[in-house]
Amino acid sequence: MLSLQLSRYGVPFRTIDRLAAPSLASRAITVHSRMLEIFELMDQKLAQNFLQRGIKNKGYDLHYVNEGKRNVVKMGIDFTTTDCRYPYLLVHRQDETEQALREYWHQHFNRNAEWGMQLISVEQDTRGVISVVRNTETGAEEIIRSKYVIACDGINSQVRRCLEVEQDESNYQGTVLQNLDIRLNNFPDSNEHIHYCAGTDHFMMVAKLPGDFYRLLVSDRGESTDPDATPEENIQKLMDQHFDGVSMGERIWHSQWESWVRLAKAYRNQQIFLVGDSAHVHSTTGGQGMNCCIQDAWNLGWKLGLVESGRARAALLDTYEAERRPIAEQVIWAASSLHEIFMGHGKDISERGGQMEDAKFLKKVVGCCSGISYTYKDYIEQYPDLTPLPGPTIGDRAPDVDLETGHSLFSIIGNTKYTLLLSGTDLEIAGKGEDLAKSYAESLQCYKLGVSAAFQATYEIDQTAIMYLIRPDGYIGFRCLFSEIAALEEFLSSTLVQNIEG
Ligand SMILES: Cc1cc2nc3c(=O)[nH]c(=O)nc-3n(C[C@H](O)[C@H](O)[C@H](O)COP(=O)(O)OP(=O)(O)OC[C@H]3O[C@@H](n4cnc5c(N)ncnc54)[C@H](O)[C@@H]3O)c2cc1C
Repeated sequence: MLSLQLSRYGVPFRTIDRLAAPSLASRAITVHSRMLEIFELMDQKLAQNFLQRGIKNKGYDLHYVNEGKRNVVKMGIDFTTTDCRYPYLLVHRQDETEQALREYWHQHFNRNAEWGMQLISVEQDTRGVISVVRNTETGAEEIIRSKYVIACDGINSQVRRCLEVEQDESNYQGTVLQNLDIRLNNFPDSNEHIHYCAGTDHFMMVAKLPGDFYRLLVSDRGESTDPDATPEENIQKLMDQHFDGVSMGERIWHSQWESWVRLAKAYRNQQIFLVGDSAHVHSTTGGQGMNCCIQDAWNLGWKLGLVESGRARAALLDTYEAERRPIAEQVIWAASSLHEIFMGHGKDISERGGQMEDAKFLKKVVGCCSGISYTYKDYIEQYPDLTPLPGPTIGDRAPDVDLETGHSLFSIIGNTKYTLLLSGTDLEIAGKGEDLAKSYAESLQCYKLGVSAAFQATYEIDQTAIMYLIRPDGYIGFRCLFSEIAALEEFLSSTLVQNIEG
């Protein structure tokens, strides 16, 4: 995603990976609503490509056994309630997600990652970053000088280690997890739902993958595990507690790992940025990790793109950590809360069953996991002198709208520039908006909505003279009445670079 973003802005860069070739392992299986929105903002065909390959899944059924009795909270985590064009989670394997993005990058920009190139060390001086990179086949080392290094190098980030970035750390209690991609015979429940199944001492997730296989995610305290038995034989005992008549067939993947929580105390050290798992990791419960990582890159990418192509001021880069680190905290909250409910092994299951029926909590989880409720409004400047207005505000996600013209709002704002939306009929101000866009032509486009009932309804506009500045990532950068256009001009001049300065 970061490579794609930088290519969209025409910024020169190199992408290296120590693997000899792309990984075929599928860790994540979820592409959530906000990810699909982002793909659409980039290119509607990219979103369509994902939709064709994945399975639309409505939500999570929460099963628990208490004293041998089965209980189910159907659609406890219900993505059909998500207010957007994609009210579901898309089950789509991570290796295929990565492949789809790689192919898109290659098709549109004729670029590839340099495989078999391992970063050994980084250090910084006044001119930028010096990286030592080793060719994993020949052992040859290369010294690369660059203005920035962006660390998308995962949980064991070498870049983070070189910088000695401290992390907030905590560990889940004794959770060894296993993943199996396996054929299930006679699974009796809905393939349109993911099944989270808990007992006092175990957790099992069952999710139908595209194709013939299911993903099982299991954690237990090993008490019912026979060390001489196969994973299938041990997991069959858990399966039988929740479903009747299921048997296990061919297995194509098995892995085992430990889950913990880590959050980097800083996302930036001078010219080096941490993105994705290098900055934050947490339980896979809720399936948010990869989604959050890609959205880090989506956020940093356009900022670097505009700054490095000379169209925005360098201070824009400071907003990356300010916006994304609090989002990681919320992602960790949702993942860890669900983890405690489902993998709080030994904790009274009747108490945990109550939490599974807490509608307010579950609604909050839906907003977090889908990515739709995440907002930067509490972490960026809010301009208290502006007239207070209802509706989505500065820092909020800009919701899509089907406009009366037949266009969707996303088709208008989905490009590499800011978009100034003018909702109203004041021609004088509309002219001023267009003049502004001309003086920032490289980074700003202006769109006159006129009077759009659809836009006004979604954006809760009770009067017609309002302007919205939408950022290239589909969040609201600024919003004010027409009469407050001077404040917008000030915001623009502090953020963007005019075509001809001075
Ligand atoms: C079992 C499991 C299930 C999961 N399920 C989900 C899910 O359902 N939904 C979800 O959203 N998330 C899920 N996740 C989380 C998700 O897989 C990760 O959050 C995501 O892959 C992190 O992406 P990343 O690009 O930051 O790091 P990675 O995917 O780890 O990529 C890091 C890359 O950096 C390369 N690299 C590392 N070190 C170097 C170096 N020194 N030099 C050069 N290259 C280097 C690696 O080869 C790798 O290609 C799951 C994770 C696990 C373990």
